Amino acid sequence: MTEQVRRQEAVDVLVVGSGAGGLASAVSAAHRGLKVLVVEKEPVFGGTSARSGGWMWIPMNAPARRAGVEDSRELAQTYLKHEAGEFYDPERVDAFLDAGPKAVEFFESETSL
Ligand SMILES: Cc1cc2nc3c(=O)[nH]c(=O)nc-3n(C[C@H](O)[C@H](O)[C@H](O)COP(=O)(O)OP(=O)(O)OC[C@H]3O[C@@H](n4cnc5c(N)ncnc54)[C@H](O)[C@@H]3O)c2cc1C
Repeated sequence: MTEQVRRQEAVDVLVVGSGAGGLASAVSAAHRGLKVLVVEKEPVFGGTSARSGGWMWIPMNAPARRAGVEDSRELAQTYLKHEAGEFYDPERVDAFLDAGPKAVEFFESETSL
């Protein structure tokens, strides 16, 4: 039987899960001065992110451009339409394509990542 640890803590942001999404949220919130707690159900951190290929699929990001990778919004949309098929959601894709490069810029300029 798993040992239950009871603890009370007051935080501004509770992040559930320690994958790329959770840790990115945690770092962003902590950078803005918020008190953050990350909880993870598994005995190790990282989730699927720790097992992934490690290639950051964020179209039009600055490090890729500096490395000579040529891509565009249209190419990314075409690829995602092909992959998502009937589940393609233009609003969510647009949000991803707008925010992705900004997120990379934030992590590059404001954190030690
Ligand atoms: C083999 C493989 C290769 C991949 N390669 C790439 C790649 O090269 N490039 C790329 O961009 N993407 C790749 N991906 C996709 C990418 O890994 C995922 O899209 C990404 O890791 C998802 O991150 P996430 O933070 O949303 O979820 P996860 O990394 O899965 O994190 C979710 C975390 O939440 C935890 N959790 C869930 N429920 C609870 C709960 N109730 N309480 C506490 N914790 C909880 C889980 O244990 C986990 O740690 C790959 C995926 C796989 C499987």
